[in-house]
Order: sequence, then C-alpha cells, then structure tokens
Amino acid sequence: MTAEGPRLLLVEDEEPTRRSVAAYLRRREYRVDVAASAAEAFRAWDSQRPDLILLDLGLPDLDGVEVIRRVRREAATPIIILSARGDERDRIAGLEAGADDYLAKPFGVDELNARIRAVLRRVGGQDAQPDGRLCLGPVELDPVRREVRVTGNPVRLTPHEYELLKVLLSNQGRVVTRERILRSVWGLAYADASQYVHVYVSRLRRKLSEAGAGPVAEGLFATEPGIGYRVADAEALREMAPPEIAPST
Ligand code: CA
Repeated sequence: MTAEGPRLLLVEDEEPTRRSVAAYLRRREYRVDVAASAAEAFRAWDSQRPDLILLDLGLPDLDGVEVIRRVRREAATPIIILSARGDERDRIAGLEAGADDYLAKPFGVDELNARIRAVLRRVGGQDAQPDGRLCLGPVELDPVRREVRVTGNPVRLTPHEYELLKVLLSNQGRVVTRERILRSVWGLAYADASQYVHVYVSRLRRKLSEAGAGPVAEGLFATEPGIGYRVADAEALREMAPPEIAPST
C-alpha cells in the first residue's frame, strides 16, 4: 500500500455503496476521499483538489450535474458519473456539463477500475501529437493537410466525415454525446437530427475498415445506446485487438 496513488473523490450518498466502493479502490492503491452530499463534495473539492471525481448524480441536497458545472468552471479534473437513474437524459446532461464518462449502477468494480485508468491515462497524455496530428490505432488525421490515413494509406472522406472523425479522435478515452457531435459537425441548426450521426458513424467505420483498419474500426468508436459514442484510446485498443491485427503505435 502506498500513499502516492492518484487521489480520488467518491461522491455517493448511499452508505453501503460508498463504503464498499471506497474499500475496493483503497485496495487498488488509490487514495480515496468520500462525500455523502454535494455540500461535502464542494468542501472536499476545495480542500483536496482530487485527481479524479466519481460522482453519483442523485444527491440529497443538489443535482449532481451542478457539481459537474461547479468543478468545470474551475478545473478540467476528470469526472466519471455513477448513475443509478434509468433516465439516460441525466447521463447526457452530465456528459454535456463536462463529465468524461459514466457507469450505470450496478457496476462491477473491475469495470470501474478500468474506466478510472482510461480517464487518468487521458489526462496524462494529449490526444494530439506535437505536430497536431490525431492518431488512434491505425488511424491518423493530419489537420494541417486535412488528410486521413489508415496504416499509412490515404482515405478519402467527405468534409462532414472528416469533421466527425476529428471530433471523435479529439476525445479519446471519453464518451461523446450525439448532441455534441451534431453541434460540432453540423452546427446548431441540426440539433434534433441525431439520426445523422448514426448514419455517418456507420459510414465512417466502413470506410476506415475497408481502408485497412479491418475489424479494429469497430472498436474505435463503440456505440453507447441512447447516449453517443465511447472513443477508445491507444491502450484500450491494444487490449481489445487480437495480436495479429494489434495496431502499432
Ligand atoms: Ca444517490
């Protein structure tokens, strides 16, 4: 056990969940502070400045989304939503307010640990290379030349497909909502046309797959039903890819 692990703030009003999740995380050598309400969360946030926040949205004193907004006004500290509510609008609101990822309760603790690691990896490294290129597995986007390559071979994308890929590659290790994609790629006028996103993502996956990414293209942006897309990061991609098609990085 070390005192040097990442410092997590667990905001959860349900005592049994709070206790068991905190105990599990401490065994994984995280330092864990706990809060049972938004008020306690704000106090811990002000005094501890954790490396990552695990946040239940259903808090007794304030909507968890307000906690996200307050933290985001002050810092880019990663936030993972722990959501018990069936209503996916809460998760979307949380992601739109700036949360990085979400886990639906009940969740497995190993899955929780995997998400924490992915989000912390994201903070450790920038998505863009020093020259501005965005790379994920076999896919490379060069914003200066507006070029996309798969395992080094150029791929022809329409302007919308290109912008879509750029948004996705800029959010490695995060969940991106359909609304966010619509706003970034098509603008506000299309905010209700979420079926666009589905069609374009399918087309983009097919193009990348045919250009040489093969089955890896499916793992680049996993569909989160009703929410949007979970963008892989390089390590997640290595873990999911069979060795013979593992991307080189
Ligand atoms: Ca709750």
